[in-house]
Amino acid sequence: MNFICSHCLQHCTSKKVDIGIGPYEFWGQRCIDSHIKILSSCCEADCLDELGCLITIAEYNNYEEDQKTERLIDIHNYEKGG
Ligand SMILES: [Zn+2]
Repeated sequence: MNFICSHCLQHCTSKKVDIGIGPYEFWGQRCIDSHIKILSSCCEADCLDELGCLITIAEYNNYEEDQKTERLIDIHNYEKGG
């Protein structure tokens, strides 16, 4: 999966950022505000996919899972002596 920065329109790496306000209190009740966004590491702007669509959290999580799986396959191949 390729990520494109919506600001400079270059290929970029992405990072998961929590832009929520964190812990807060509302009428005596403690809450934590969490708002995860996928941002480009170059401009900290929204990340797009190759088609120019915003990367959703679900898509990013899938991508992360894929990366893990690929790494496992690499290690497996290495151990076989390939
Ligand atoms: Zn950028």
